[in-house]
Amino acid sequence: MNYRGPYRVRADRNKPMPRIEHSGDAIVRVTRSCICGSDLHLYHGMVPDTRIGTTFGHEFVGVVEEVGPDVTKLKVGDNVLVPFNVACGKCVFCEQQLFGNCHESNPEATAVGGIFGYSHTAGGYDGGQAEYVRVPYADVGPMIIPDDMDHDDAVLLTDVLPTGYQAAEMAGIKPGDTVVVFGAGPIGIMAAKCAWLFGAGRVIVIDHLEYRLEFVKNYAQCEAYNFRSLEDPVLFIKKTTDWIGADVCIDAVGCEAAGSAFHTITGRKMMLQSGSAIALHWAINAVKKGGIVSIVGVYGPTGNIIPIGNVVNKGLTLRANQASVKRLLPRLIEHVQSGRIDPKAIVTHRVPLEEVADAYHIFSAKLDNCIKPILIPPS
Ligand code: NAD
Ligand code: ZN
Repeated sequence: MNYRGPYRVRADRNKPMPRIEHSGDAIVRVTRSCICGSDLHLYHGMVPDTRIGTTFGHEFVGVVEEVGPDVTKLKVGDNVLVPFNVACGKCVFCEQQLFGNCHESNPEATAVGGIFGYSHTAGGYDGGQAEYVRVPYADVGPMIIPDDMDHDDAVLLTDVLPTGYQAAEMAGIKPGDTVVVFGAGPIGIMAAKCAWLFGAGRVIVIDHLEYRLEFVKNYAQCEAYNFRSLEDPVLFIKKTTDWIGADVCIDAVGCEAAGSAFHTITGRKMMLQSGSAIALHWAINAVKKGGIVSIVGVYGPTGNIIPIGNVVNKGLTLRANQASVKRLLPRLIEHVQSGRIDPKAIVTHRVPLEEVADAYHIFSAKLDNCIKPILIPPS
């Protein structure tokens, strides 16, 4: 696919084949890629330095087509899943398993490490919503897909499940805790599911899309509420926790797109500017004093306004990061193989790569009960 500007993407037959640029690169022939809520921030024009012509796609699996001379762990023909982080494996951050914060893969940025298909603020790497993709540091990120693993599960291990899991992990959930997850997209669904693994006593998900609330209620065995039918979600959380507040809140929403934007804050309807951090507002206000807010929602534009005064006054801990996929893969593969988590259950759409523009539109506008679309390149 090819980014042409906000709300415009298309399949591009003329884009040249990627080639080995460094001795540690591999070329992967993509067999499946997903569209992620993170891609929507790019699609909505919310991420600085998203250049025309970029190929998005940081969730993909495929077959190794070619390897550079220094690649030792992969060979041509291997089926691989590729974490969304581009990570060198040896910088000061990778050494601490902070693969989402790799320095070498994106040395110019002040914060994020390299990410496939995620603008020049994340290193300018082309992504996997394509037939072929160049995978740098091929001995570090890619993992051979176990023979018995469904490739739909494998592609959801490149981001969605690890991110949901890390959201729950960062929340520091203690046995019996009440966990509130804002957002019932793929990430919020996985965060709700994983919250139980850390001993949550009660899991509540907030969204406004009925079909997603219905899905998460069954999939994650949790409570699910529509914020449009609540007087005020913060008040609701307070009332249902004896006015104490949730033990932890998870933001699995991120910043608002232009025009998506009106919500209720403490009873008042407000128009919000694009880039607003409404779910994060709610999370900060709904968590108890001394509680933890875990943020995996992505905030593309700088200067998102949050109620930092409440963070100080309530003595909150905010924890946030891009998921460190490679760190989490071993334990998550075990959860998938044991049947405790079934990631592929969230896949609602399979769309030929040529129809990428339709797939983006459906996923962005939340049409046709879409939860997670997979793009299939021509074989
Ligand atoms: P998605 O767009 O499918 O889902 C977002 C959901 O949030 C939607 O169901 C929407 O209706 C809901 N929502 C919107 N405003 C809300 C509000 N105020 N309160 C509650 N719910 C609200 O996206 P997704 O794929 O689930 O991704 C969710 C977020 O996680 C995005 O910001 C994405 O960029 C981010 N993400 C982060 C990482 C990471 O490593 N940190 C990885 C993947 C995705
Ligand atoms: Zn993603």
